[in-house]
Amino acid sequence: MGSIQLQNIVKSFGETKVLRNVSLEIHDGEFTALVGPSGCGKSTLLRVLAGLEDLDDGSVSIDNIDVSMSRASDRNLSMVFQSYALYPHLTVGENIAVPLRMRELNSTQRLPLLGSLLTPTAIKKNVSDKIAAAAKMLEIDHLLERKPGQLSGGQRQRVALGRALVRKPKAFLLDEPLSNLDAKLRVQTRSEITQLHRQLKSTFVYVTHDQVEAMTMADRIAVMVDGEILQYDTPENIYNKPSSIDVAEFIGSPKINIFPAELINPDHDSKLKLGVRPEHIKHNDGTYRFEVSICHLENLGPEIQVQFKLPNSDAQFHSRFDPKYLGQLPIGSKAQLGFDEVDCHIFDDKGRRLEPSKTKQFFEKLNQAA
Ligand code: ADP
Ligand code: MG
Repeated sequence: MGSIQLQNIVKSFGETKVLRNVSLEIHDGEFTALVGPSGCGKSTLLRVLAGLEDLDDGSVSIDNIDVSMSRASDRNLSMVFQSYALYPHLTVGENIAVPLRMRELNSTQRLPLLGSLLTPTAIKKNVSDKIAAAAKMLEIDHLLERKPGQLSGGQRQRVALGRALVRKPKAFLLDEPLSNLDAKLRVQTRSEITQLHRQLKSTFVYVTHDQVEAMTMADRIAVMVDGEILQYDTPENIYNKPSSIDVAEFIGSPKINIFPAELINPDHDSKLKLGVRPEHIKHNDGTYRFEVSICHLENLGPEIQVQFKLPNSDAQFHSRFDPKYLGQLPIGSKAQLGFDEVDCHIFDDKGRRLEPSKTKQFFEKLNQAA
């Protein structure tokens, strides 16, 4: 088992409040992505969970047992860092063996003497079996005698994963493990890590600033902004029912269009925001139509991405169209675009998603006015 409960975690560095009352229930065996812009506190939260950083308030539990006061080495969690953190003078096999050797030394109550740990001593049979199994799973079994300096970035990342694997931890904690890889390798390793998760069925907590990684890899996503978790939900719900404009804008590229709107009541008017994702804007179609001028266009092959402006405004919005419309959308021309009710996200003046009954009311008023 490897469920994790984070409760009301508060953490500051000096005057800077980095985690503001973070609570999160990570389910056993799930792949949870912690996603948010750089500097929002993701690594700090992962380090608090791992026991590498003290918390100011709140608690960390694993399988509902409070481990807030336990040392990192007693939490049985494996961490994989962006920088790989391999020992350069040890071979791949020895690097993978490090946690097993550590455990051996701990269990015999001997001091973990760095010298005896780092000299390539004969590795015991059960240890070498574990290394072989991990290396096979990660397809690095032919590299066991090499040093990290003789490996590519992708291979080094696998060694770091191998080292995490052999410990059979309660959960794997990964902090931006793909960010040192080039774009092509990142996509490949992304699917390999998800396959590894499917095979192991262990709990994974995966930190990334990349919304595509979060969307494609995770069972559940926690969106973090400025030390707070804004929404914790499945990728589908995060994308289709964002709880706020901040979440809606963070997930999806090009980002969601946010149009100003208004709900006019006899007693008061409320300012609203209407969100429509670029792929839901239609060309010469949709229940609600509006005229725009086309200001920029990019042909990506399978689709064209169009930037447009509304009359009397300089704000630019985005849409994605089938390339068949290419000839009808010259830059500088006017076009009729539209959208349907089902594709709209309505937010209140504070940027919070409107509840369904209020959204319905908004469209009723809109239809009456039309
Ligand atoms: P993320 O991983 O989301 O990019 P971090 O958790 O690394 O964000 O950092 C969150 C904030 O905490 C940043 O403003 C960062 O500068 C600050 N911070 C992180 N670690 C320390 C530290 N050891 N001492 C002081 N400030 C820190
Ligand atoms: Mg970080």
